[in-house]
Amino acid sequence: METSTTNAFIGLGANVGARRRSIEGALDAIDNLDHTQVVATSALYETKAQFVEDQPDFLNACAQLRTSLSPRTLLESLLHIEHSMGRVRRLDKGPRTIDLDILLYGDLVIDEEGLTIPHPGLAQRRFVLEPLNDIGAQVVHPVLGLTMAQLLQDLR
Ligand code: AMP
Repeated sequence: METSTTNAFIGLGANVGARRRSIEGALDAIDNLDHTQVVATSALYETKAQFVEDQPDFLNACAQLRTSLSPRTLLESLLHIEHSMGRVRRLDKGPRTIDLDILLYGDLVIDEEGLTIPHPGLAQRRFVLEPLNDIGAQVVHPVLGLTMAQLLQDLR
């Protein structure tokens, strides 16, 4: 019997240490998860830190996965990768070795304790929409009913 797989989009960000290596290492770790394959990756984008501005610039990217992990299991796996890569969070929205977010998981809409999908910042954040537009321009936001290309256009 074939297990069904879902297209999910992940946001990656790093602004401490060897940023490119952290993003590439996280992509490898995601691709090595059980029942999960990275099928597309965006370009890397250098962006100024938002929210807490007195910190180094970020590198941001997005990846498209095919996965049969549940959203919860995928989240736990991403948190495990963050921790194993030495992420230490001293300040909310502050510097981080690697930040991994589930942006979209198929058409699923989830609003639970500790897990919101689509990611609540997605539609307002250029540093998410620019890389997402590279690999998922025609993907439709399941709540807003607009494509990633349209959401990015609306930010301009
Ligand atoms: P942050 O590191 O600031 O992105 O926050 C991480 C926390 O956000 C995690 O512990 C998750 O429980 C929670 N969270 C809620 N929704 C999501 C999501 N879609 N992707 C990743 N983390 C999420």
